[in-house]
Amino acid sequence: MTTTTAFVGLDCVDCGRRHDTDTHGRCDDCDGLLSPAYDLDPAAVQRGVADAADAPLPFPVDERVRAAEGDTPSVETERLADELGVASLVVKDEARNPTGTVYDRGMSVAVTAARAAETEPLALAAAGNAAQSAAAYAGRAELRSYAFVPSRTAFSNKAMVNVHGGEMRVVGGRFDDAAAAVDDQLAADYYSLSAFETPYRHDGAKTLAYELIADYARGRVGPFPDVTAVADAAPLPTPDAVVLPVGTGELLVGLDRGLSELAAADLLADEPTVVAAQPAGCAPIATAVADDTETTPWEGPDTIVGELEIPDPAGGELAVAALRDRPGRAVTVSDDDALESAVTAAQTAVLEVGGAGGVGLAAAWELADEGMFDETSEVVVVNPDAGVKTPDVLRSHLMGQGI
Ligand SMILES: [Zn+2]
Repeated sequence: MTTTTAFVGLDCVDCGRRHDTDTHGRCDDCDGLLSPAYDLDPAAVQRGVADAADAPLPFPVDERVRAAEGDTPSVETERLADELGVASLVVKDEARNPTGTVYDRGMSVAVTAARAAETEPLALAAAGNAAQSAAAYAGRAELRSYAFVPSRTAFSNKAMVNVHGGEMRVVGGRFDDAAAAVDDQLAADYYSLSAFETPYRHDGAKTLAYELIADYARGRVGPFPDVTAVADAAPLPTPDAVVLPVGTGELLVGLDRGLSELAAADLLADEPTVVAAQPAGCAPIATAVADDTETTPWEGPDTIVGELEIPDPAGGELAVAALRDRPGRAVTVSDDDALESAVTAAQTAVLEVGGAGGVGLAAAWELADEGMFDETSEVVVVNPDAGVKTPDVLRSHLMGQGI
């Protein structure tokens, strides 16, 4: 299949060995995870700022399985910014992706690679949103897909996997049980679309970084009609902090890759602080950062935010390393605060944010209370999915308050 000239191979994150661009699965030598490697010139990165669809990815834009994913709005939330006491609080609203989740960005790239591999079915374990996204993109590519989800997965996700034409197995227990069931229950060969089992989901997520930075800079230095305008505006102003809800680590690793590419091309005036937000009931990445240890599987995970209940995240080590290498930190929040934040966003900013987005907003609140932000701070919070996927969870929070 056609690859971009910038895509030079797949590097093992453990032993460093470079594999050919048509490699699938893990490292032949050490079974480590693979990540796309690029030989980038600054113009390629500038093109990605002008239009994130042109950001450096393994496959050319007109060869990818696409459905207008990305290009999501950055929504100013003046009332929330006032409450936090910051200059601006912008929500990058990934709910506006085709299947209502930020995972559509990476799934577009991963399903493109899967189509070239000519192995069916595509299969993955997912907390919910990625299962729906995989079924949708596989359907568009005329490929069979099989999703393994835990029984607690939101009804909307389960229903839409089937509506998009995907097959599904609901596994008793939690996310890790669903992950184990893929190999236990699928007898035939399959092409994995699980986070980090494919090199392409976390890499595809980096377009989020390109858009975040471009959205922010456009608001301050004007539009970027072409690459020349991006080059002329460089280095681009950046927000002080980007707050990201974290489960598998996929989005954080993607954001880190994107920011690193932009920095290497001398496009960033400053490095924003990247904040990983996790629910207190399942926070293996935040705990590893706080304790300065490796990630260890979380015992007895318990959070209402099913999307973020990932006790043994595949991208845990990479996510923790990313947070340590850049201005970065991690925050945990209670389920109650997350749901309260989600409801407040709905009532003040026309934003339909689910529990995961609520975790991000509550983390911003916590950092403001702690004194990390002041009245000059400019903060971006990523909302990873649509609140309409889990209205029952939001509604039950109100019922708990007698509403
Ligand atoms: Zn290796």
